[in-house]
This record gives sequence, C-alpha cells and structure tokens, in this order.
Amino acid sequence: MRDRVRDVPDFPSPGVLFRDLTPLLADPRAFDACIEALAAPWSAAGIDVVCGIEARGFIFGAALARRLEAGFVPLRKPGKLPPPVVEVEYALEYGADRLQAAAGALQGHRRVLLVDDVLATGGTLAAACRLVERLGAGIAGAAVVIEIESLAGRTRWPCDTPLHAVLRY
Ligand code: AMP
Repeated sequence: MRDRVRDVPDFPSPGVLFRDLTPLLADPRAFDACIEALAAPWSAAGIDVVCGIEARGFIFGAALARRLEAGFVPLRKPGKLPPPVVEVEYALEYGADRLQAAAGALQGHRRVLLVDDVLATGGTLAAACRLVERLGAGIAGAAVVIEIESLAGRTRWPCDTPLHAVLRY
C-alpha cells in the first residue's frame, strides 16, 4: 500500500511534501486493502454515520461507510451545501477556513466516525470534531489514511476517543 503513495516535494507550496494518494486509488488491490485497514478498528464499534471531510475524505469516507454499513455525511467547504447549514471556522497557516454540514444531518446519531485522507497539523480534523459536536452528535473517533507524525496533529485531536491511522510517516 505504501508503495502506492507518491511523494511530491514543494506542492502545493514550497517546503510541503505532498502525499499523493491517487496511485493508491487507481490500484484496486491497494484501494481495497486501504479500506479494509481503515475499517478494521471500527468493525465492531457500532458506527452509524461516517463523516468525510472535503474533498479526499469523501472518497475514503464513502467507501468506508459502505464497508461499515453506515451512512455517509459530507463535511464541506463553504458555499457548497444548500441552506440551512451549521458551520465552524478554523485557523490556517495564513488566514482562516470554514467547514459546513447540513443542519439536522446528524440528528439522533451517537456514533459518528470522522474520516480524512491525511492528518497533518490536525487543524482540519479538530474543526470537524467541533462541527459534529455543534450538530449535537457523538463522536466515536477518527480514521485517516496517512498521519504525518512530525507535525504532531494527533496532539490537537480534541476528543477523548481513538484516532487511527493506516500509514505513518
Ligand atoms: P491539517 O489541518 O494541517 O491536518 O491538514 C489536513 C488537510 O490538509 C487534509 O484534508 C489533507 O488533505 C491536507 N493535507 C495537509 N498536508 C498534506 C500533505 N502533506 N499531503 C497531502 N495532503 C495534505
């Protein structure tokens, strides 16, 4: 699986080592192994909804939702979802961004699993966690394909629930 991750230096900006997962997605065996590895810690966790973070979290999140026989709810960048929405703002290295979800999308859900492709500084996943809490749902944990350990994003995970990564760099 690891050999299907392409390292791209200085993308999208100088100094960033981008972990490109498109070769993994294009290889049916590697993609399947990745979804199985993402699902393994959660197969008996009673997950009722997977929340995928735009955009690559949608790809892994939707496949994982099917595997766990759970629903799927997208957490989106601003301006993509029709109203009414609930949103959170979070800081980026330069400026701020927002994540939105459909109001009521998680009503009655106690076991939400957050999914993204890469955990870097952890700001995105922490924002997703706040958004799900604002929607009144309970968080069972988070699953990412890649954790970049040197950026210590795990230390920003604000929930008292597990965060599992398939590959660590
Ligand atoms: P962060 O909020 O810093 O944890 O960044 C996580 C988000 O940015 C994820 O949605 C990733 O898709 C993207 N991202 C951050 N760093 C990288 C990287 N080195 N390679 C690929 N995607 C990244």
